[in-house]
Amino acid sequence: MPSEKVPDTPVEVLVAVLTKAQEIATTSDNVPEELTSHLQKAVNIARGLDDYVERMTTPESQPLVELYKKTISHDWDQVYRDGKTMFRLPKECITGHVEGQTLKMLVHMSQAKSVLEIGMFTGYGALSMAEGLPEDGCLVACELEPYLKHFAQPIFDMSPHGKKITVKTGSAMDTLKELAAAGEQFDMVFIDADKNNYINYYNFILDNNLLRLRGVICVDNTLFKAKVYLNDTTDDNGLALREFNQFVFNDPRVEQVIIPLRDGISVIRRVSACCVTENKITNDEVFHGVKGSPILDRMRLDGKVAYVTGAGQGIGRGFAHALGEAGAKVAVVDLDQEKAEAVAKELLLKGINAISITADVSKSDDVQRMIDTMVSKWGTIHIACNNAGINMNSASEDTSLEEWDQTFDVNLRGTFMCCQAAGRVMLKQGYGKIINTASMASLIVPHPQKQLSYNTSKAGVVKLTQTLGTEWIDRGVSVNCISPGIVDTPLIHTESLKPLMQRWLSDIPAGRLAQVTDLQAAVVYLACDASDYMTGHNLVIEGGQSLW
Ligand code: NAD
Repeated sequence: MPSEKVPDTPVEVLVAVLTKAQEIATTSDNVPEELTSHLQKAVNIARGLDDYVERMTTPESQPLVELYKKTISHDWDQVYRDGKTMFRLPKECITGHVEGQTLKMLVHMSQAKSVLEIGMFTGYGALSMAEGLPEDGCLVACELEPYLKHFAQPIFDMSPHGKKITVKTGSAMDTLKELAAAGEQFDMVFIDADKNNYINYYNFILDNNLLRLRGVICVDNTLFKAKVYLNDTTDDNGLALREFNQFVFNDPRVEQVIIPLRDGISVIRRVSACCVTENKITNDEVFHGVKGSPILDRMRLDGKVAYVTGAGQGIGRGFAHALGEAGAKVAVVDLDQEKAEAVAKELLLKGINAISITADVSKSDDVQRMIDTMVSKWGTIHIACNNAGINMNSASEDTSLEEWDQTFDVNLRGTFMCCQAAGRVMLKQGYGKIINTASMASLIVPHPQKQLSYNTSKAGVVKLTQTLGTEWIDRGVSVNCISPGIVDTPLIHTESLKPLMQRWLSDIPAGRLAQVTDLQAAVVYLACDASDYMTGHNLVIEGGQSLW
């Protein structure tokens, strides 16, 4: 710590006090050597802490480095003397590396998509949090001083995350009122402005639902140089923060923890609605969620074991990613070993537990080996996604028995064998979700291409699904199928199908082909407990094509 620096955090204050004590001890007579050595140790521990945390925290991005340098080297006193700012702004207001990375981490952990910052200063905290937001995330920063908006903007423009930030200048309370009137809500609110108004900001946010259900409020400086807990505090800011901390502590709407990082960060969240004792509420599962879980949590697949056949590319690959992202362990099954391994690798890279299995679903031995491999590896199967399928084109009068058999062997016989083998495991445990991939071709006759065997096999998949779905549902196993319209995968990019693209597009109300990602939520829904009452259903996702 440079000698001229004013201690700014409880640890820095402690270092300053200990250093003074150490100076006194070393210049005084009759101080026991043991005391001097303990003092030395205490100084080392206190002084090393922030330094160590700083060094071990992932370095900040280049735009943040630039923003820090620009803020620290700026002559804020001159700016004030020139009348460009209303207040004399101390450069120490900057959020800094460790706190910036902490905020970014909190944004990630809370999966926030929208953040409100009250008190931006030069934008270091805003940009750090924006870096933690997804691409379509947004951050609204309230800042009193218009000068600071112009100061920060060129650096925001340097960063790919800067476009997520909107700065609103003027009184923060006016901005809060404007946001509330517009019905805006935020997943995370960071309060770092005038300390005397913290309680007002906090109350306004909660009273006007600016904080989204399950959102968090983070508040800066809540340990304020240790003044919040020292008895001899007379400092206005210290007293305001002491009152704020106590106010939040006493507020039955929330729970809080103060993290002793730098100058203290409070993390505050609304307590679960079912803990609030209010009259006039119907305290049932609609109000507090099934098993206490809100709807999106009920769609999670944590701890579930799934497989997807034909997952080496196309729709199956999309399904494997979706199930894994929702929390399931996934076996990527495909005829093509290289493709299966490549997709399993993608999942592992994302932190999803995955294996690859090479199997031909038209061969009963392969199907049984796939099931046995999963049971021996993961103990069971909860979700079976029977997706592998092939399509060959020929006019019906020319369709060979070979083509018919091959198509049926994979699309219908293969799907049946997978349903039966996985179903046996599921019926035994009284739980399972089977999701077959049928096709819009099960409903309509897609044209102008000729694909008799395919259409008929997919109609068979729907009847297979309906039959199993009704036969097994009272033993805990639901069976449903998804019928995509025309999906943009390698299956349709054959030389013979390519010229038909324009014709297809004119038949689709949505005006485009389906992307694999258009189908991902459906597979997660059918795989999760929230869809337990759905069985034998053919979920058609075709941009309206079957209705025209
Ligand atoms: P795709 O051809 O892009 O991928 C299919 C994958 O399945 C490939 O990786 C292939 O190696 C694998 N596979 C083929 N036969 C197999 C077998 N016997 N055993 C194991 N794996 C096998 O196909 P896609 O477009 O992703 O289609 C997936 C499913 O969706 C199929 O059942 C298909 O009929 C159906 N579907 C596709 C469309 C579309 O427009 N693409 C539309 C409706 C339904």
